[in-house]
Amino acid sequence: MSPQPAPSRSVPSGGSASRPAFSRRLLLVHAHPDDESIVNGVTMAKYAAEGAQVTLVTCTLGEEGEVIPPELAHLAPDRDDTLGPYRAGELAAAMEALGVTDHRFLGEPGRYRDSGMMGAVQNERPDAFWQAPLDEAAADLVAVIREVRPQVLVAYDPHGGYGHPDHIQAHRVAMRGAELAAQADFRPELGGAHAIGKIYWNCTPRSVVEEGFARLHAAGHRFPGVATVDDVPGVVPDSEVTAALHGDPAQIAAKTAAMRAHYTQIAVDGPFFALSNDLGQPLFGSEHYRLVQGVPGAAVGTHEDDLFAGVGEMAGMEESVRIEEVAE
Ligand SMILES: [Zn+2]
Repeated sequence: MSPQPAPSRSVPSGGSASRPAFSRRLLLVHAHPDDESIVNGVTMAKYAAEGAQVTLVTCTLGEEGEVIPPELAHLAPDRDDTLGPYRAGELAAAMEALGVTDHRFLGEPGRYRDSGMMGAVQNERPDAFWQAPLDEAAADLVAVIREVRPQVLVAYDPHGGYGHPDHIQAHRVAMRGAELAAQADFRPELGGAHAIGKIYWNCTPRSVVEEGFARLHAAGHRFPGVATVDDVPGVVPDSEVTAALHGDPAQIAAKTAAMRAHYTQIAVDGPFFALSNDLGQPLFGSEHYRLVQGVPGAAVGTHEDDLFAGVGEMAGMEESVRIEEVAE
């Protein structure tokens, strides 16, 4: 895996940029390389395969992560401090596995540094993502939103799923970025205003997590210990879930391969995996969401099975055409 931070863009900007090339456009905002594959791997693989534009924005390089493979221990922040660029290479490999070509770092690679766990001294570094002025970091996302013009945004909940400062900050940046992108008088040089139709927060229904752990205990595994429901980010009562995407075998295989690509962070064993704490947990083949902004595309009491449900495929296009007409 080559440690080269090389965000690629599949959609040329400039020229006819005000008319998006893809009719369905999904934006996901994550804190560190690996979060996207663990949380949204099936979703990203599904929409990429269906020909939607899938844009990933990762806020930090994950410089403060713990390194699992002993032979790579020298990458750690208290040694070579080269984990960030190495993880950018892992992320590129993961995106290849998911079929996603548009992945970027917020601002630019290394613009915001991993803040470490809550309470760590790294929280205080001036370049830590946790210290970034909200509207400054949000403006970096506004530029992406106005270029890509997504109909759907996927972000963390206000707790960041599990309280990591970078996840909390990623939530704030995503929500503030969506708000500012829609305001025509905010930084007009970043592009024409764009309102995102639907915003989802990642979540996992408690029953699915409990069933996953039951499966893990029954199957046997090679991990020295097993995590608990409380170790899984974003667990919510089943009743709060509004969308469920059940991965098919190809999508689950892509997700598993993407997680394996994050070799310094994740150890995968069949349908289970462990982070650096070596505690086994289920690898979910279904991914769940809570719609927090926008109109549900499914009847009350039923789950959406498509994040674009109810989004008029032309809705985003009409706005773009209108902007283009104004420009002419
Ligand atoms: Zn993370």
